[in-house]
Amino acid sequence: MGVPSTSDGGKNARLRALPSIEQLLHRPSLEARLASLPRARAVAALRLAVANVRERLLAGEARPFEDADVDEALRLLATPNLRPVLNATGVVLHTNLGRAPLATEAVARVASVARGFCNLEYDLDEGERGSRYAPVVELLRELTGAEDALVVNNCAGAALLVLAALASGREAIVSRGELVEIGGGFRVPDVMKQSGARLVEVGTTNRTRRSDYEAALSPDTGVLMKVHRSNFALVGFTEEVEVGALAALGRARDVPVVVDLGSGALLPLVGEGLTPEPTVPATVAAGADVVAFSGDKLLGGPQAGIIVGRSALLARIRQHPLTRALRVDKMTVAALEATLELYRDGCAEAVPTWRLLTWPVEVLEARARRLLALLSQKDIHARVSSTSGQVGGGAMPLARLPSFACILTLGEPAAFLECLRGASVPVIGRISDGEVVLDVRCLAEEDLPLVADAVAMASQGRQPC
Ligand SMILES: *Cc1c(COP(=O)(O)O)cnc(C)c1O
Repeated sequence: MGVPSTSDGGKNARLRALPSIEQLLHRPSLEARLASLPRARAVAALRLAVANVRERLLAGEARPFEDADVDEALRLLATPNLRPVLNATGVVLHTNLGRAPLATEAVARVASVARGFCNLEYDLDEGERGSRYAPVVELLRELTGAEDALVVNNCAGAALLVLAALASGREAIVSRGELVEIGGGFRVPDVMKQSGARLVEVGTTNRTRRSDYEAALSPDTGVLMKVHRSNFALVGFTEEVEVGALAALGRARDVPVVVDLGSGALLPLVGEGLTPEPTVPATVAAGADVVAFSGDKLLGGPQAGIIVGRSALLARIRQHPLTRALRVDKMTVAALEATLELYRDGCAEAVPTWRLLTWPVEVLEARARRLLALLSQKDIHARVSSTSGQVGGGAMPLARLPSFACILTLGEPAAFLECLRGASVPVIGRISDGEVVLDVRCLAEEDLPLVADAVAMASQGRQPC
């Protein structure tokens, strides 16, 4: 060693010349940047900066360590891993993007209980232990028509819990047309296995009749179950037993009928491009004994699995040990209570999901034109086009939401989308026919300048600092 290598173009020498953390901590030119930071944060930023430069040098670049590398590291450290993004995909309930945005009222309620203590499990009248579900049970009863309610972590958990509590060691009868995979690895037969229930499949993929369920009923039957086909459609030569007919059979044979409804709309959602979706109150009214649905799909609240149904069955479910394992925290209860109040008060349009799904197409066209104007101010060529979005989140699989978008034909689309994701507020778009599509359905008016800024930066092929 000691002899400078020439065969590597000076790479080794540059690596050896990397400053130490100690040296950087005392470098006068960095003093102003680091002085106000906790020492641990300053050290973490310097380590990150040096590691990044080392990687750059190893990759064959020649640019040596600069103070600007510390600025970049400080910026990275100051950026949370989980942060807001702008949804320009046109998919409203995008599971990858956090599903339902919460109503302002729900956000405020979360903040009010998150900061300090609250009566989560404390009965203020009696001065003794209370139930964490109490704040939402009355609202859920009122809004669904069910006798009782319970809330757990999500609908997958709710389905698992209901089956474990009502059918463990017994049989659960399900149509072959409903043995679905919801996404993220949630498959009805697997959940069934985990719950300890024995799956009894009846009917065929496309046709299941009342007589199929009837023939499968036995003294060992724990539940008759229906699973909503949330994310696919069955068309053509099909037949299924509606909740009402199945409930009548269940009542006659004294077997509870459980419905995993998934999307869980509380009201019929009517809007351009939307398809009919069974509501929770209609499912309860049709005679389902237990209904499970998501809090953050069509309901537009926090992630939660809501279980409503007959008191005696809910009592059995509540006592199951999984209820404790799947319980929700104070922030979920707070957001759910505030969201349900909006429905109770007839203000469903204040629930963002509801608004996003029902924007009149003229509103979306005007919004796309405003985005286009902002882009032209930045000399970016784009055009407005009608497009179609989706509900997402495994709801209304056939619905195509007529929408409007700005279409960009700048460079290679995948690389362009990557640049947009690198914006300080990342913009998530999609590619269609080799062009970048920015659907405005899920963008607020105040988001448009941010989108235009991100596009401007991406079009220069650089990421913002
Ligand atoms: C989405 C869905 C689930 C899972 O709900 P999560 O709240 O995401 O856990 C379960 N069942 C059906 C029918 C669904 O559509």
